[in-house]
Amino acid sequence: MHTQSAIETYPILGVNISPCSKDDFFVSVNERLQNNDEQLPPLFVITVNPEIAIQSIIDNSYRNILQSSSINTADGIGISWAVKHLYNRSIERITGSDSLEKICAVSAKLDQSVFFYGAAPGIADKAAAVLVERNPGLQVEGVYSPESPEMNFERLPITTQLELQQASVVFVALGAPSQEKWIYKNLHKLKRCRLIIGIGGSFDFIAGTQKRAPLIFRKSGLEWMYRLYKEPARWRRMLRLPLFALNILLLKASNTIIQIPDTINLPKKDFGFNSSGKNGQKILQNRTEIKN
Ligand code: UDP
Repeated sequence: MHTQSAIETYPILGVNISPCSKDDFFVSVNERLQNNDEQLPPLFVITVNPEIAIQSIIDNSYRNILQSSSINTADGIGISWAVKHLYNRSIERITGSDSLEKICAVSAKLDQSVFFYGAAPGIADKAAAVLVERNPGLQVEGVYSPESPEMNFERLPITTQLELQQASVVFVALGAPSQEKWIYKNLHKLKRCRLIIGIGGSFDFIAGTQKRAPLIFRKSGLEWMYRLYKEPARWRRMLRLPLFALNILLLKASNTIIQIPDTINLPKKDFGFNSSGKNGQKILQNRTEIKN
C-alpha cells in the first residue's frame, strides 16, 4: 500500500484528508480496477468522519493506519467544515454508502469481483443481492459476517479465505476503527485485491434494515442527527463531535495553522496523490479528462 503525501492533503488533527472531488475519486477507482499490474499496491480507502479523527488522537496504532492508507476522503460534514474553517477550501464529501454503490457499478462494468465482509448475519447477503440486481453482471466472490471484528483471518472458513484472496474489491463493514484495523492487518494476504474500503453501516442501508437519512438531512449535513434519532445508542460516540469542533476552533484561534504551500494548487496535468513516486502509482490523473 502506498502512503499519502502530506503536501497534497489537508491535515485535520493529524489525519491527511484528500482534496479530491467525487469525480477525481471515481476516476482513480476506475483506473485502479482496470490496471492489471500485479505489483501495484491496492487502493486502501478510508472515509473519515470526526469520530475517526478523534480516535486517531487517542490511538497511535490507528493514527498509523490513517497515515498508511491511499486516500482518506471527507465522509462526515464535520471534516469538510474543518477543511473550510482551517484552510478556506471547499471539498466534496465522499461517503462509504455512496462509494459502495458506485464502486459496485464500476466493478460490474469492468468484470472485477467483489467481496462483502462484515455486518450482522444475513445483512451482507441481502445487500449483495440488492447490488447484483442493480448492477447486472456484478460478480460476487463471497460474503461473510464474522463473529467478531477481531476474528483472525486464519479462523475464517477456508472457502471464505480463498474467496477473499480472489476478490478484486473488498468492502469491509465492521464500523470504525475495527474495519480499518482489519484491513491493515490482512491486506497483505489479499493478493488479488485492487481496492479495499471500510464502509461502516452501508450494508444495512442497502439491505434496508437501517434507513439512510432522507436527502434533505444529508444535503444539510445533519445525517448524524438523523442517525442519532434512529439509533439512540450512538449518543456516546456522538460526544466526540463537540470535542472535534472544539479542537478545530481552538486550533484556528491559536493561529497555529501553517499557510498552505502553493503546491496545493497542483497543475491540472500533474495531479497525483503519490508525488513521492514511492510505489510508482499515479492515482489521480488529469482533472480535465474527468470532465470529458
Ligand atoms: N459491525 C460488526 N461487528 C461489530 C460492530 C459493528 O459487524 O462488532 C457492523 C454493524 O453491524 C454495521 C457496521 O459494522 O453493519 C457499521 O457499524 P456502525 O454503525 O458503527 O458504523 P458507521 O456507519 O457509524 O461507521
